[in-house]
Amino acid sequence: MRVAIVGASGAVGRELLALLEERRFPLSQLRLFASPRSAGREVAFAGGRLVVEALPESGDLGADLVFSSAGGAVSRQHAWRWVERGAVVVDNTSAWRLDPRVPLVVPEVNPAALDGHAGVIANPNCSTIIALLALAPLHRAFGLTRATVATYQAVSGAGAEGIAELRRQSAEALAAEAAPSGEPGAYDARPEKFRHPIAFNLFSHDSEVLDDGYNEEERKLALESRKILEAPELAVSATCVRVPVFRAHAEAIHAEFARPVSEAEARAVLAAAPGVRLVDDRAANTFPMPVTASGQDDVLVGRLRADASRPGAIALFVAGDQVRKGAALNAVQIAEALVARAAVA
Ligand code: NAP
Repeated sequence: MRVAIVGASGAVGRELLALLEERRFPLSQLRLFASPRSAGREVAFAGGRLVVEALPESGDLGADLVFSSAGGAVSRQHAWRWVERGAVVVDNTSAWRLDPRVPLVVPEVNPAALDGHAGVIANPNCSTIIALLALAPLHRAFGLTRATVATYQAVSGAGAEGIAELRRQSAEALAAEAAPSGEPGAYDARPEKFRHPIAFNLFSHDSEVLDDGYNEEERKLALESRKILEAPELAVSATCVRVPVFRAHAEAIHAEFARPVSEAEARAVLAAAPGVRLVDDRAANTFPMPVTASGQDDVLVGRLRADASRPGAIALFVAGDQVRKGAALNAVQIAEALVARAAVA
């Protein structure tokens, strides 16, 4: 199978490359595309070297399978043209996620949604994937009716520039001895990628704030969860926050169900859930953390307890590597599922 990664020089694109090698994805050819800025750059792959190409305007990538990971504008412009040329597109961007023609897939949750796809398959938003690894099995067992979610999102969720900004500001702030006391005026953070300083700070998620006061990330979590779980009535309220963490998102979740659920029942379901690892050591006060979730395929789930404010509801805390399971790994798993169904030749 001839494979192309569009956005190969980005945070997700580089992880895709690593995962295709690590998981020995069955490919006969791999082509890497990015913007003209990266054209000509060499990248190591499977003991050899590949050269990054500028994405051709013609849309002809000579590929049977395209991982589209260069932002929504590129996917909106090109995804269906690649399909017309015979490719299946696994799209990491938000361009087509809510399109009724496009399955929105987390392989552990709704693999059957791949049946009869029209050529574009969407990878959900990273916070949505991480939340649903825990919520979907609970939904299947008990009927999820409401989820309130607070996220703590890593800078790599905003791509390579987000990582660079946290690194630069942290180094400069420490060198200026302005952090953590951070006297006003002692250090000029000069935000570029984000609107506000990210080192030694946190702020409401950097996506656009919509008319109802929720931001785009919060809206995605609600709408995408409903589509994936096929639960149009599901009530979701999210507060998404960017934190000065390099990698892996964490989320505090309160979940309510069609019937009262005990902690023991929820624990039994989550212990058997695919893609989930329980990390819930009260004695050692050790629970999911970005540093332990980073580089892991599984989403870590812990702080499992009965919600003291709502009898029969469950509170939990999750952490997942959003570059990996929240993006690249989920995309590769979708492609592996397609190969298993022989949907791509
Ligand atoms: P990134 O680090 O900023 O990388 C963007 C990639 O797209 C780079 O390879 C860039 O090439 C390329 N690109 C940008 N404009 C292009 C154009 N006009 N033509 C061709 N290539 C272009 O971003 P990322 O974090 O990898 O995210 C990629 C996509 O995945 C985004 O849609 C994002 O929303 C989504 N996503 C990201 C995450 C995450 O955790 N980061 C999680 C889920 C989904 P150059 O390097 O040459 O500029």
